[in-house]
Amino acid sequence: MAEPKPEIEKSINFLEEIIENDLKAGKYKSIVTRFPPEPNGYLHIGHATSICLNFGLTKKYGGYTNLRFDDTNPVTEETEYVESIKQDVKWLGFEWKNELYASDYFDTLYGYVLKLIKDGLAYVDELPSDEMAKLKGTPTEPGKDSPFRNRSVAENFELFEAMKAGKFPDGAKTLRAKIDMAHTNMLMRDPILYRIKHAHHHRTGDKWCIYPMYDFAHGQSDSIEEVTHSICTLEFVPHRELYDWMISKLEIYPSHQYEFARRNLTYTVMSKRKLLQLVNEKHVSGWNDPRMPTISGMRRRGYTAAALREFCDRVGIAKRDNIVDVGLLEFCVREDLNKITQRRMVVFDPLKVVITNYEGSGETLHGENNPEDENSGNRAIPFSREIYVERDDFMEIPSKKYFRLAPGQMVRLKHAYIIRCDNFVKDDAGNVTELHCSYIPESKSGSDTSGIHVKGTLHWVSIAEAIEVEIKLYDRLFRVEDPSSEDGDFKEYINPESLVVLPKTFAEPALAKANVGEGFQFLRKGYFNLDSDSRADKLIFNRTVSLKDNWAK
Ligand code: ATP
Ligand code: MG
Repeated sequence: MAEPKPEIEKSINFLEEIIENDLKAGKYKSIVTRFPPEPNGYLHIGHATSICLNFGLTKKYGGYTNLRFDDTNPVTEETEYVESIKQDVKWLGFEWKNELYASDYFDTLYGYVLKLIKDGLAYVDELPSDEMAKLKGTPTEPGKDSPFRNRSVAENFELFEAMKAGKFPDGAKTLRAKIDMAHTNMLMRDPILYRIKHAHHHRTGDKWCIYPMYDFAHGQSDSIEEVTHSICTLEFVPHRELYDWMISKLEIYPSHQYEFARRNLTYTVMSKRKLLQLVNEKHVSGWNDPRMPTISGMRRRGYTAAALREFCDRVGIAKRDNIVDVGLLEFCVREDLNKITQRRMVVFDPLKVVITNYEGSGETLHGENNPEDENSGNRAIPFSREIYVERDDFMEIPSKKYFRLAPGQMVRLKHAYIIRCDNFVKDDAGNVTELHCSYIPESKSGSDTSGIHVKGTLHWVSIAEAIEVEIKLYDRLFRVEDPSSEDGDFKEYINPESLVVLPKTFAEPALAKANVGEGFQFLRKGYFNLDSDSRADKLIFNRTVSLKDNWAK
């Protein structure tokens, strides 16, 4: 029997280390994680990190991951967001075990809070929020007790029932945990558990007018689902003490909270609140604008799920806040697209070339679809006497080392022949309007017997068969690395050239069969995909990413 190949072990991250120790100690047989988005916006690349982490851990160590909508705030949540979130998680390539909603636990949570009241651990307060804030103290000074803190259990029950029954307006009363107003952790100073909100909820309708706060919903939902490792971002570190307090007082399943650093990316913003402003104020065309850092925007732009997963994997997770260069994400996208996309030729800024010695009506040539994939086959490419090349592939007076077209210079037309520029035509304004070239008949690609070596290879299209398409060139949405840390409004730093439209470009006819979302490499131009706004008579291609990283230049 062959020896198993030794695996090169990638160093594990701190969460994997915790889980491996837990499993070794026999604390769990398998693990349960959850991805808990609040359905108040579309998912972004930061969420993708959390998704890859949570689902990746249960894939690696056995167990499962739930998708739980953290929908305890009735005002900001919408069904549209729920649907988009499900689509994005699936697209990223993950399957959740259960689709759950924190709002499904409202009855259970209500039962839990009655236990706290019964045990003298919660009370109904009626301080207005500003007075409550005043009594809260500061990190260096203890807070003061509310005058309503010592009501009897019976009175608390009665008032809380009345809150639930809708007897009071929004904000008139709250239910607070009775912990310690002098606690060093400000979050432990009698946090609010329930508030009154006469609002319609996307799932529970008008059943409730009291809603639990994050700290009385999140950890409890984890317990109900018997989540073993509840992973969140660093800003929740101070909440962990409260999370544990609730579990111990309620005597429910002991889930544990672990924190990692949020994913930040250069040249963009990531908070849903900011992304919503970009959408509402029409700086972008919507949540799925190809310039957005949302998963749906990246998908529309042509980023692949494999590239996003690879990016998350390469960056890993950290315990300290940091900002990752978007160039790394683009690198992952380029690397994947190079492997999988078919090649096509598109001329962005056309200059007509007449091949003066080419007789006949034309011929069909063939080009390999993808040199990286031997099974990708060939496509037919029409060739004829009149073609377009790029305007900047010609220079009247060539500079040194310019190996493209110039009077007397030869180039190869990709998948076709070698041509020599003999002459050019100018209009009255002095612009070059046409090149006259001759071709070398024995130089046909694949059966070249000409013995001529040229240094330049150009992409081109045959004019008669070319289809006119629109190209959208995207650049970074912001012109500074970290718009959120700059002075003033982050929107002042939007890059005015983040979208450039080329309305009239010419594509080889094989592109007429492109499907929405399908990606291609346009030779010498970059990676592009067919945009969902395309119509049969107007194809629109998005530039996914350039061929090389030329941002630095
Ligand atoms: P935002 O501030 O963008 O609105 P959020 O944290 O409020 O983000 P949620 O819907 O509550 O968004 O997040 C769902 C999960 O995704 C949480 O577990 C959260 O920790 C995680 N998450 C959100 N943003 C990031 C990020 N930038 N990096 C890593 N994880 C994130
Ligand atoms: Mg949130």
